[in-house]
Amino acid sequence: MSINLLDFDQRGLADFCARLGEKPFRARQLMRWIHHCGESDFARMTDLAKPLREKLAQAAVVQVPQVISESVAGDGTRKWLLAVGAGNGIETVFIPEVSRGTLCISSQVGCALECSFCSTGRQGFNRNLTTAEILGQLWLASQALQGESAAQGAGERAISNVVMMGMGEPLTNFDNVVSALYVMLDDHGYGLSRRRVTVSTSGIVPNIDRLRAECPVALAVSLHAPTDELRDVLVPINRKYPLAELMAACRRYVGSAPEAERPLKGAGIPPELQGKWTREGSPRDFISFEYVMLKGVNDTLQHARQLIELTQDVPCKFNLIPFNPFPNSGYQRSEPEKIRAFQEALMSCGLIATVRKTRGEDIDGACGQLAGQVQDRTRRMQRLAQEASL
Ligand code: SAH
Ligand code: SF4
Repeated sequence: MSINLLDFDQRGLADFCARLGEKPFRARQLMRWIHHCGESDFARMTDLAKPLREKLAQAAVVQVPQVISESVAGDGTRKWLLAVGAGNGIETVFIPEVSRGTLCISSQVGCALECSFCSTGRQGFNRNLTTAEILGQLWLASQALQGESAAQGAGERAISNVVMMGMGEPLTNFDNVVSALYVMLDDHGYGLSRRRVTVSTSGIVPNIDRLRAECPVALAVSLHAPTDELRDVLVPINRKYPLAELMAACRRYVGSAPEAERPLKGAGIPPELQGKWTREGSPRDFISFEYVMLKGVNDTLQHARQLIELTQDVPCKFNLIPFNPFPNSGYQRSEPEKIRAFQEALMSCGLIATVRKTRGEDIDGACGQLAGQVQDRTRRMQRLAQEASL
């Protein structure tokens, strides 16, 4: 069976080259061709010797998931539904803005964590995505967006930022996600700055520490509740890693806890990226806390006050996300005045709090609406139900 080179970061490619009897610098060349130039045909990799190209064609492939459909929303948001075998679909969303272009990537088929307000969580867990399937989303989107007017200030490329906020919990698919992150950061890969790559987690505490040590990119933490009592219901993983532990991990991540060491060097960090760590110091000066606004559940001023207290010694910013509804969710979005009052309560204490604009709603591309095939099934059920009642 052919080896998919999209599965490898630079170290993996170097090992692969060694197995073929090739020098390590071939790994850099391959990385450039595959990710920087978007080339999948070895025959066109012109600065590789012909015998090597032939050897590669025998042993390897560059294979991305198949695109099932692509939709573009009225606001320019694009969503791809990709096939990952066994009838499963995953979704990738591109959100163009004036000053940046953000790609939202999935890390798993479904999710095991069952947050009560999330449609991916409702679908249950199917499997982890491979590194190739995670990077394949970026590869495909980069190709599709090539030639589009680059976002202002984002340089040549339409995709200036990547967020792991699609389907799945990235920190429970740690190794595959981190290999993919290495390629995103690699100058021979996508060359993104660590501050422009964000991992979003529901709070897998031990793996927040591992990420800090091995690949300290920007971190978003899905908080959604200021007390254990409420968070246990909304984000059930809280029962395993309660708020006190989560806040301590956040402090360690931004390096403000006394026990925190700057991740200058780490055994897990590939040599080509060590310099990046040392030069840039801390990945972010703050944690981004995500907070979904659920009507009558977590949106009162009392909740805002509790939140201020909870996060008082964590350098952070808040991102308030108006709940994005899906069929039979059982939740409603907080009213705009409630969201504004909540935001003002946080800001009056000197915190930075933004309200996330919901993007791509008309194509179900907004946060928490991604559900791959299940979304389709739900729609089919809705249609059948409607037809039945006619
Ligand atoms: N599993 C990771 C990343 C994927 S979810 C995590 O939970 O952080 C990305 C963000 O969307 C998370 O903050 C998540 O809580 C939020 N989200 C999930 N369902 C939502 C919904 N229906 N409306 C608004 N945000 C939602
Ligand atoms: Fe999983 Fe994140 Fe959805 Fe929770 S919010 S079920 S962790 S994808």
